Formats: sequence, C-alpha cells, structure tokens
Amino acid sequence: TVSPQIAAYPLANDVGDAYWLPFTAMRQFRSNPMMFVGAEGMHYLTVDGRRVLDAMAGLWCVNAGHGQPRIVEAIREAAGRLDFVSSFKMSHPGAFELARRLTGIAPDGFDHVFFTNSGSEAVDSALKIARAYHRVRGDAGRTKLIGRAKGYHGMGFGGLSVGGIGRHKRDFGPLLPDVSHLSLPYDRASMGFSRGQPEAGAPYADELESLLQINDPMTVAAVIVEPVIGSGGVYPPPVNYLERLRAICSRHGILLIFDEVITGFGRLGRPFAAQALGVTPDIITCAKGMTNGAVPMGGVLIRDFVFDAFMAGPPEAIELFHGYTYSGHPLACAAGLATLDVYEELGLCGRTTAIAPVWEAALHSLKGEPHVADIRNIGLLGVVELSSRTAEAGARGSLCAQMCYEDGVLVRASGDLIVLSPPLVIEEEQIGQTVESIRSALHRMN
Ligand code: PLP
Repeated sequence: TVSPQIAAYPLANDVGDAYWLPFTAMRQFRSNPMMFVGAEGMHYLTVDGRRVLDAMAGLWCVNAGHGQPRIVEAIREAAGRLDFVSSFKMSHPGAFELARRLTGIAPDGFDHVFFTNSGSEAVDSALKIARAYHRVRGDAGRTKLIGRAKGYHGMGFGGLSVGGIGRHKRDFGPLLPDVSHLSLPYDRASMGFSRGQPEAGAPYADELESLLQINDPMTVAAVIVEPVIGSGGVYPPPVNYLERLRAICSRHGILLIFDEVITGFGRLGRPFAAQALGVTPDIITCAKGMTNGAVPMGGVLIRDFVFDAFMAGPPEAIELFHGYTYSGHPLACAAGLATLDVYEELGLCGRTTAIAPVWEAALHSLKGEPHVADIRNIGLLGVVELSSRTAEAGARGSLCAQMCYEDGVLVRASGDLIVLSPPLVIEEEQIGQTVESIRSALHRMN
C-alpha cells in the first residue's frame, strides 16, 4: 500500500528538486517523472496504477524477478537481528557463509572474496588489489592499467579512468595517469547482426601485445574488461578475443580482471561469464545480481595465488589497507545468501541457457524493421541499435523507450540504443511482448 502523501506527490507533478538523480536530465524528469511504487515478479507498478513489464531487470540486477519472498523475508529477519557490525577486525557469521557460497559458485581457484557495496567500489578495490599484489611480490614498478573503449567500470575515479566512455569522463579533470585503452573489438560491416559472439576476435586482442610493446609490459599491473561490454552498448566478445587476452596477460605476468557486475549471477547461463565463455581471469568483480538488486552489495573474487601473495608477511600485520564501513553488511549478506538460494531453487542458469535461443530469435526478428541498424545478443542480454536522426542523436532511442513504456514495457534507451536485460525468469510470451512493443514503436516513429 502506498501512503496518500507519496501517491499524490508525483501525480501533482511536483517532485521538487531536492533529490538530484544520477544520470538524469533533472529538468526534463521533473516535467514528466517516471515513478514506481511497487514491483512483483516481472512487473513494476507505476504510481498511477499501471503494470509495466521490466525488460531491464531494474538496472541489470533483479535477475530472479522482483519481490522474491525468500529474499524479502531474509532481509526482514536480518534487520531485526543484527543491524550493523564493523568488518574492520571483526565480523558476523553471515559474511563468512556468503563468502563460502560465492567462492563455491565461482570458477575453480577463486577461493576468496572481498566485500564492497557497489560495482564501482568492487572495481576500484580490484584495481587497488592488482597494484598491491605486484608490490607485495616486490614488483612495485607494475602500476599501469589497461581498459577498453566503451568499457564501463563504474563511477569511482579508478573505474572512470579505465572506463572507455568519453562523455563520462569529460567534466571531471585529470583521472589516473598511465592508463591505456584497447579499442572496441567490433566492426559493423563484418560483425553486424551477428547472433551471439561474432567471429574473428583474435586480431583485436593482438592489439594488447602492441600496446604492451609501447608501454613496456613490465610496468603494467592489470588489464580490465567486461567479458561482454554492457552499458557501452552490449557487445559480446568476438570468438577467441578473451582467450587471446588471457594468453597475452599470462605471458607478461599481468593480471586479467573481468568486470562481471552485469554478467555475474547467471546472465550468460552460468554463474559467471568466465565459466560460460571458458576463459579464467585472475580477479572478478561483481555486484547487482549478487543480492537480486534488493540491497546494495558488490564483491571482488580473487584467485588463490593473488590472495596468497598477500599472506606471506608477518601474521600480525594488516595485509590490505583497504575497505569500507559497510563491507559485508549483515543485511546485504542475508540478502545475498537468500538470493543464491533462490537462484539455485529456480535453476536460473539452466533456465537462461534454455530460453536464450528464443530470446535471440525474437530480437533478430526486428532486423529489417524501420531504423534498425544492428542487433546484438548473448545470454539474456540484447541491444537493438537504431540509426540516429541527422543532428538529433538519441532522439529515436528515447522516443522508442517512451512509446514502449506507454505500451507497458520498460526498456532502457542509451542514446539510440535500446538496451535489454530482463529478469532471467522471463517467459517466452513476455519476450514476445517486449519485442512486439519495440516493433510497434519503430513503425510509429520517423
Ligand atoms: N561495472 C560494470 C560492468 C557495470 O555495468 C556497472 C554498473 O552498471 C558498474 C561497474 C558500477 O556498478 P555500480 O553502479 O553498482 O557502482
């Protein structure tokens, strides 16, 4: 139930400007605020009482669908039992249990996890751990970082530095020095409308070797990539791309970090994309689906040899001078544990693998519709790229998303990209509804 004050607020179209929303055109938002008051399963409930199909899993995070009773109950119970305990030199059983469960589903050899409260914190933690790893081994000259064009690694200064979306960086002055970027492993002419992974990724990965020759490989700490570029436009890795990055990093003693904030927790049909794609990095960052989006939480999964390097000093010395007040928060741990139970009970990974071909076929049925310039997909991720109107980039994307929303389907417009990342519990019929809603919008716009 919604209190009358809350329900009346946006209906009066006066949300005020006290709340500064992230990544939002504030003045435009105020004129037509999109407000939700509830959510259940695959749907949001809008403030004016409409049910909207959530084809974004919130923001790539509600993998088991909204309002999972077991997660809700675990959060309630945890809040009443232990509200907070520091994780600096103390802890609580839930954190250890969650760490054990996470390392149990992580790729072999990832037996350690460092808790954070978001994907951005997970990325910055991973970058710091990578640099510190080299230093504790006596190789302090390895500090450089390599990211990739269109990469999104959150909004901390570290993640922003290795990220590859120029507009995100423009306004904020100097970022980390000594960061280079690989180019986007994508060529529209040869890879457009690929189903799943495009062919021929190795030449793009070989670019890493060239970058290393320019930079001196002995000065590089880590390469960080999303196995599937997410926010930058859903680009699945071309065949042999990640494999080759892995081989080059290994050859030069450089740590390979997979940012699995989006791809973690089943989106590609395995707990992590590393497993789905058969390439093992050295560090994995995760967040979002870790608690089904219900409580903020992130984590860094760490391979044994990295962790062990830190454990070689005197036992009374702190090994890593890093952490957050809310690392391993009891509420988040309870939500995380219940989430893993729910994922397992629903058989989400198997379900995703089974329904991914339906998803792929449905999305690609939009090929040839008005304004469609490309379609990319992998697992239960997808993007429909629209051609831009001359001198009005982004207009078609936001119009399409608006029309879908009015039609009862929530998709995400990022410029002229229609981004899709539904809860993994989506039914075939709801896939159909999503795609038909987009198709209808495309036919109604110029
Ligand atoms: N890394 C990746 C790959 C992401 O997609 C995101 C968020 O979308 C982040 C990091 C940042 O996560 P957060 O917004 O929780 O800080």
